[in-house]
Amino acid sequence: MATINLQVSSLRPETALDSFIVEAGDPFVHEILCGQIVRIVDLEGNQAVDTLFYNAHDYSDRYSAQDTVREQGNLYLTTGTRLISTEGHVLLTIVADTCGRHDTFGGACAQESNMVRYAIEKRYMHACRQSFVKGIQQWKPAPGMRAFDKGDITSNINFFMNVPVTPDGGLTFADGVSEAGKYVELRAEMDVIVAISNCPQLNNPCNAYNPTPVQVLIWDERIQDGNV
Ligand SMILES: [Zn+2]
Repeated sequence: MATINLQVSSLRPETALDSFIVEAGDPFVHEILCGQIVRIVDLEGNQAVDTLFYNAHDYSDRYSAQDTVREQGNLYLTTGTRLISTEGHVLLTIVADTCGRHDTFGGACAQESNMVRYAIEKRYMHACRQSFVKGIQQWKPAPGMRAFDKGDITSNINFFMNVPVTPDGGLTFADGVSEAGKYVELRAEMDVIVAISNCPQLNNPCNAYNPTPVQVLIWDERIQDGNV
């Protein structure tokens, strides 16, 4: 698979079922039903969108960076990437991508990692892990489902974030590759829960030192097909 696989979507925003703005530093948690399409739009450019996915009917079956990378034989996520769960299920497939490169190695920022990487006094800065905790605690599980807990926050995707691997295997946090209006679009292959932390990081170039809002759009193609 190519490491950058640009693909424009045919879906028009005005036909979306739902549309949400997620401010920088805010969480967003939502169910995406099997067959629905979710698009994340980098509204102002160079924003990192930390994202987790779960099987909506079993939260312990969740996005696995390791299984996804192994199955596709490539380190980067782009059009055609199938997001694999810890139980080997295909949660979603990336069906359109105008940015072309997304990271799944850099992890989510936390107060602890900010202290280690940057400075002790950075511990009071808001970080993605706090947003994830807030988002999943506010989520009301469906009847029969347990609540999320901190242990459910594991390896994540950083949409629009560029973390190239050097020839000798090093990880580098490079300048963002995204621009205003770039988007990534995924089709749910089963009922999933998406949990987003729109990253507030100010200590590295993942947000171009200026965290900005993103838009989340959801389409239900089954409904559209019924209208044709
Ligand atoms: Zn972050």
